[in-house]
Amino acid sequence: MGLSKDFVRTVMESVAGAKPGTNLVSGGHLTWVSACDTYASLKVSWEPGAAPESLDAVAKAAHTALSAAAGKGGDRVDSLIVEFVDHAGKVTHTTRFGGMMQQPQPPQPAPGAAGHKPIPGLRQPPNPQMSATSGPLAGVRIIAVGAGKGGVGKSTVALNLAVGLARRGRAVGLLDGDIYGPSMPTMLGLDGLDAVTREGQLEPFLVHGIKTMTMGKLVEPDKPLIWRGPMAHGAFKQLVEQTRWGQLDDLIIDLPPGTGDISLTLAQTLQLSGAVIVCTPQKVAQDDAARAARMFQQLGVSVLGVVENMSYFVGDDGKVYDIFGQGGAQVMAQRLGVPYLGAIPITIALRKNSDSGDPTSNFTGVDAPGQNLRKALEEMVTNVDSQASLAAMRSGAAKPSLTIS
Ligand code: ADP
Repeated sequence: MGLSKDFVRTVMESVAGAKPGTNLVSGGHLTWVSACDTYASLKVSWEPGAAPESLDAVAKAAHTALSAAAGKGGDRVDSLIVEFVDHAGKVTHTTRFGGMMQQPQPPQPAPGAAGHKPIPGLRQPPNPQMSATSGPLAGVRIIAVGAGKGGVGKSTVALNLAVGLARRGRAVGLLDGDIYGPSMPTMLGLDGLDAVTREGQLEPFLVHGIKTMTMGKLVEPDKPLIWRGPMAHGAFKQLVEQTRWGQLDDLIIDLPPGTGDISLTLAQTLQLSGAVIVCTPQKVAQDDAARAARMFQQLGVSVLGVVENMSYFVGDDGKVYDIFGQGGAQVMAQRLGVPYLGAIPITIALRKNSDSGDPTSNFTGVDAPGQNLRKALEEMVTNVDSQASLAAMRSGAAKPSLTIS
């Protein structure tokens, strides 16, 4: 029969709360439940400052109770994600059971990496290896945005994530790593601006409160880029390393769709905080997205979660049209055992703002669809921000593992 929200909620009444005599429900801890088939996710509000070990213990008690209760009814729990949130709803700790575990493995060397041609006008980097612990991007939170296939809104999510984080006061860089089909020049309104190199480095474009660089400004727009693996590898590496990013808090990287060389280069070259997977609700998109998520896992990159784009459509009358059958990405996230990072509706304003290079307007809409879009984007930014911070903490030295199996 599978798990249902009501069933999970009822079982949580048997798990002890923070105060004696209370449980997760009566103590007001359980703020969100999602369940489907053999997968469930919980959001639990807990006292600020609690030790990770004690939060893991609460999650373990929830998992034990749920597994036992499900077993009695002939069901099972393949994946449970317990996210602990603070009073503002920000995720402060995650414990996962089952699903796709985060087991970093060292990336494999890129095939034929030596054969790339340099971008004209740029000097070769003196140190080919950069990481979050050394080099110009030391300490920067680097978030890659990927998708199983093109056209699902990967660039849209990367761009709005960058602008949304910048609107919260963070210093953000956005790299259009989709070197086969760069779309950022249009989406950012870079028409009429030329790339400038100074002292052998590229100056990023300063627009919409972010710093950005795109291959689309380094090649002739009408000439298709038919770069094969090693060349693409080299071009991407140069774009990252040879841009004068200056001080950044976050670097968002819009990856090419699918599972190719660039992702490999990325994992090799930079210490990523994690990857966000974008997918639409249809089943075919989910299968491709799951493959992309697994690729990141194999490269040793944390999957921060899944964003569902083009989730539903809200008409000017405020009516919701469920075009593709919303919620599919949420089920997929649960299956993979990774967080669900939110849904972005199909919005005419979003398409128009992208075409006219004005992403800032996505965050300032005042009519009903505009407000709805803004809320959805803000939620996505909050969720990615929380998960990226957690992942950055996890990848630090000698941290206790947050994964219990
Ligand atoms: P990808 O990077 O996955 O190829 P893009 O982000 O370039 O996809 O999006 C493809 C097209 O769809 C763009 O024209 C973009 O403006 C539009 N688009 C993406 N997401 C939405 C949305 N939620 N509502 C309306 N249009 C969207």
